[in-house]
Parts: sequence; C-alpha cells; structure tokens
Amino acid sequence: MELVSSHPKQKKVSESEWLDWKWQIQNRIKDGSELEKTIRISSEEKEALLTCSEVFNFSATPYYLGLADPEDPNCPIRLQVLPRKEELHTRAWDRRDPLAEESYMPVKGVTHRYPDRALWYLSHVCAVYCRFCTRKRKVSQSADTPGAEDWKDAIHYFREHTEIKEVILSGGDPLNLSDSKLDYLLSELKSIPHINQVRIHTRYPVTLPMRITRELCQVLKKHFPIYLVTHFNHSKELTELVKERIGMLVKEGAVTVLNQAVLLKGINNSVGALTDLFYGLTKIGIKPYYLHQCDEVFGSSHFRVPIEEGVELMKQIRGSISGLCVPLYVVDLTGGGGKVPLPANYLEETKTSSYVFRNYKGDLYEIGF
Ligand SMILES: *Cc1c(COP(=O)(O)O)cnc(C)c1O
Ligand code: SF4
Repeated sequence: MELVSSHPKQKKVSESEWLDWKWQIQNRIKDGSELEKTIRISSEEKEALLTCSEVFNFSATPYYLGLADPEDPNCPIRLQVLPRKEELHTRAWDRRDPLAEESYMPVKGVTHRYPDRALWYLSHVCAVYCRFCTRKRKVSQSADTPGAEDWKDAIHYFREHTEIKEVILSGGDPLNLSDSKLDYLLSELKSIPHINQVRIHTRYPVTLPMRITRELCQVLKKHFPIYLVTHFNHSKELTELVKERIGMLVKEGAVTVLNQAVLLKGINNSVGALTDLFYGLTKIGIKPYYLHQCDEVFGSSHFRVPIEEGVELMKQIRGSISGLCVPLYVVDLTGGGGKVPLPANYLEETKTSSYVFRNYKGDLYEIGF
C-alpha cells in the first residue's frame, strides 16, 4: 500500500516502511536541505540550523516532523525540534551539566544521587534531539557511549549497593537498544534481590511510537512490573498511532505508563495547553507524573517560564480538573540538589486554634484543629 505522507513535498513511502522504527531512525532529517522538502523554513531558521547544530545536532524522525505545521513558525512541535538563534545566548546561570550528573557518577554511565535509586545511561542516541535537552552536552554524540564492559561494571555496582531499590534506564533513549539487549538488561536487574522496581525513561512513545511493537511488549511483560515514564509536552503529540501503541504497551506489555512534561515558553505555558495535555494523556492510559521547570542547561533560557507563572498555572489547574490528571510541578536544582516540589500556597493564615485556607476558586475557609 502506498501512503502519501502528510506533506506533499515529501517522497512517498510505503506504510510498512513508515511504521518500521528502524526506517524512521535511518531516514531522520538532519539538515536544512532535507528539512525544506518537508516544511517551509525562513532564512532565519535556516541560519540557526547551521550555526546551532555545531553545538547540538539537529535531527528529527519523519514521523515527528510530520506533526509540525508546515507554515507556522510558532507550532509547538516545530519549537521543540528546530534550532533558534537564542540557543547561542549564554546566561550566567547556564550550565553544561546543570544537574551535576557527571559528578555523582560512581561508575561510567550511572548517576547515583538519591539514596535509593540510580539513573543508568544506556545510549546517547535519540530519535529527535529536543532543543531544551538537559543532556545536550552528551546526547547526539556517539563517542563515549557506555559499552559492554561499562554495562558489566554498572550491574556489578547495582549488585553491591543494597541500598539501591530502583534502577532507571535512561539515555539518550534506552529504547534505542534492541529487544534482546533490553531483555538481557532487565533480566540482570530483576535478578538482583534488593531491587524493588525498574523504570524506563524514554521519549520514543512521542517521537517514534512505532518502536512499541508486539515483540517489545512481550519482553516488557516478561519482566512485569515495569514502570515507563515518557515525555509528552503538547496534546498535538497525542496521535492515533500513539493511542494505539500506548494501548498495546499497557494491555499487552502490562506496563504502567507515566508522563513527565517540561514547562516550555510558547509551547505549553497556558492553562488551556496544559489541560489539553493532561486530559489527553489520561484518556489514553498515561498518568501525568511530573511537570518540570526547564533546567538551566546552556542555550535554553528562551524556553524558561518564571516559577511564579508555573505555580499560578498549576494553581488554576488543580481543582478545576480531576486530581488524577494533575502532575506535580518540580524543579531539579542546579548543582545536583535533586528535585523539589513547587506547590502553590493555599494556607493564608495560621491562627491560635485554626487555619485559614483559600480554595481553588479563591474563597476563604477556616478550619480548626
Ligand atoms: C529525577 C531523577 C531520579 C528520579 O527521581 P523521581 O523523583 O524518583 O522520579 C533519579 N535520579 C536522578 C539523578 C534524577 O535526576
Ligand atoms: S529525548 Fe530526552 S535525552 Fe533525547 S534529546 Fe530529547 S530530552 Fe534529550
């Protein structure tokens, strides 16, 4: 069957090619001339593409780019993948490694910051390079990717450290690994008695949903329970294919799926955009887990929303939509302090024998103790 992809300028591909995740990876769009076949880019965007990709590669799957509005430069998909000249601005607080992940690294590829859980970087490859990426210092560069020997050292470390209750497979994208490699890694982790749960952090359900196959679901089901945290930032990313493959992941893979979004200026910093995203996720079987303040990674200041604005947005959302749909707004402290919740303040006053609260509608209520 011939499938004409959503943009007329793009070459025809068969449906089986389009739905093959390896085809999508091999046919990623990586430069301006390929990009122009898909969407109309301004001369400013073209120039930014050239200068910024020297610092952080540009790359996008045909699938993900196909979600972008071909004309609108402010399209929320476009803003996530296309470089802008603001990326070259550096500000005093910008860091190469804002979360000091490299300083808490007991063995190559493992960040062990919190007492009970460790992050494990398994790949430096992603389907799409998100312009606000916290790990842009290393993702997109194949050099220095942890290899087989490093994996052994990491597994040894997890075995020795009985305080580790959880390992989080991360990257780059861990789903870039083959099913058999994932099967091997999950078997190793699940054979460690003190490991209570295993988690996968991946953006492939967003940028490459065809990676979720029956075969992958079989592997994940074998290692039940698996928690998978994905990274949708806008309701435009919730396509029919996503809905179908998340359904498969939940039903056939028996996976618990959660989402962490990043609050991004011009992309999702409105009550409407966040509400659509949170309802949309819940509708297809994904529980919103975190909304992150954008990290202070170099060249990302144009994405950052003031914390007061984020708190106010969440205050308007909490109470007006189901609690099940509402994630926790957090900031990951620059320097490696870990995540800190950013709750709105509802307590107006503490009296000698009562408290005064302001509810989500702005009304005052006094309760005793
Ligand atoms: C975010 C993070 C985790 C996971 O934190 P949760 O709050 O459990 O989701 C673990 N380790 C590091 C280094 C992290 O940055
Ligand atoms: S998928 Fe994650 S690790 Fe990869 S570029 Fe995007 S934010 Fe960075």
